[in-house]
Amino acid sequence: MQRRHFIRTVSVGTSAGILGLSGCASVGTPRAKVVVVGGGYGGATAAKYIRMWSDQRIEVTLVEPNAAFVSCPISNLVIGGSKSMSDITTPYDGLIKRHGVKLVQDRVSAIDPDKRTVKLAGGAELPYDRLILSPGVDFMMDALPGLMQPGAQELVLHAWKAGPQTLALRKQLEAMPDGGVFAITIPQAPYRCPPGPYERACQVAHYFSKAKPRSKVLILDENEDVTSKGALFKKAWADRYKGMVEYRPRHKLVDVDAKSRVLKFEFNDDLKADVLNVLPPMRAGDIAVRTGLATANRRWCEVDFLTFESKAAKHIHVLGDAIQVAPLMPKSGHMANQHGKTCAAAVVALLTEGTVNTLPIYNNTCYSFVSDAEVVHVASVHRYDAAQKTMLTVPGSGGVSAAASELEGHYAWAWAQNIWADTLA
Ligand SMILES: Cc1cc2nc3c(=O)[nH]c(=O)nc-3n(C[C@H](O)[C@H](O)[C@H](O)COP(=O)(O)OP(=O)(O)OC[C@H]3O[C@@H](n4cnc5c(N)ncnc54)[C@H](O)[C@@H]3O)c2cc1C
Repeated sequence: MQRRHFIRTVSVGTSAGILGLSGCASVGTPRAKVVVVGGGYGGATAAKYIRMWSDQRIEVTLVEPNAAFVSCPISNLVIGGSKSMSDITTPYDGLIKRHGVKLVQDRVSAIDPDKRTVKLAGGAELPYDRLILSPGVDFMMDALPGLMQPGAQELVLHAWKAGPQTLALRKQLEAMPDGGVFAITIPQAPYRCPPGPYERACQVAHYFSKAKPRSKVLILDENEDVTSKGALFKKAWADRYKGMVEYRPRHKLVDVDAKSRVLKFEFNDDLKADVLNVLPPMRAGDIAVRTGLATANRRWCEVDFLTFESKAAKHIHVLGDAIQVAPLMPKSGHMANQHGKTCAAAVVALLTEGTVNTLPIYNNTCYSFVSDAEVVHVASVHRYDAAQKTMLTVPGSGGVSAAASELEGHYAWAWAQNIWADTLA
């Protein structure tokens, strides 16, 4: 019903809405132009759904430097050794061939909100009627001065953007002698994927339990306690990885000596380990910050939750990890996908004189592998609250697993296949 209404609106509204917006009244087929920056979970979803829901009448150009989509979800299993990079990599062919998205393999270097253009690193300039930014996160490396030293970031990895660092961290673990120590540091929330670091600790412990049983996993967390699925992760560490995993809360990392592999904390003693995995504090992707969109603490981009339009710049929408989240809204791929669809529907409505949905409602599920096969989940449902102009969790919705299980392992893998198809196929 809604989709039929959409298409009718698009067809009827084409001459008025789209012609007016693109400022071109001459003969031909002028089309509204949307530029999407970032082909990750948020951006790729928005690009696909704008093409689908506008009946391919809106032109969508996706700018993304990487040749293919590499998923962070499941990437911890590559580090644990049970999946490979090809398992988490999907080409952009579906978006291009099936949906007619124009893919430009480049990086956006600047945005001019007044002229409504983006400049590419390669030099070209693209005009837009609406711009959608889903650049993910970047790292506040200057919070850890030692990481700014030449070569330090090649030695001390985050592997918090799936890609070359995922494999490099796996290689560091393979090279580590049995009896060594792997230390992962976690910044204060909010950061990308609340349960992700704890899942990674489980994956490394799983690998050690098979290949290097005398080794240790140390989790050094700036937070007061485990930030997601705490009881389930603690049970996995106590039962499955007894004596191997140690969790230490309230450890605020302030510096790293990459060469001597020493972590320095605000209040706790320095700590040396064999493999360091440092997750620095995070903020919205550089391009959003440079454009002046990161209005919350100069870190995250505030948006109108009905349209995802930036509160700082008209005609620019921001999605995914880069936004200042609503209460209890995680920075997750599932959530970025939901942002992408809500924003796509709103952008189609705005470009075709349609009506923006005033009651968006969506869900989130995050699965975490505690071994190579057994999984726990957390789920929630989020609904727009008109009085508070934000998304709130629906009382009584969602919840967490009672216990880890192989059945949930099958659900988790199915979730990954489905979200990759929904985002890219
Ligand atoms: C180890 C790990 C495990 C995770 N597990 C899960 C999970 O199980 N479930 C879940 O839901 N979420 C999970 N997440 C979180 C999930 O990966 C992110 O929340 C999600 O990727 C956010 O989507 P996004 O679109 O905001 O950013 P991304 O998916 O990172 O996409 C951003 C894209 O923008 C591009 N880009 C950046 N700057 C520019 C520019 N200037 N010009 C052009 N392109 C640019 C980048 O190349 C990138 O492709 C996990 C994350 C990690 C690190």
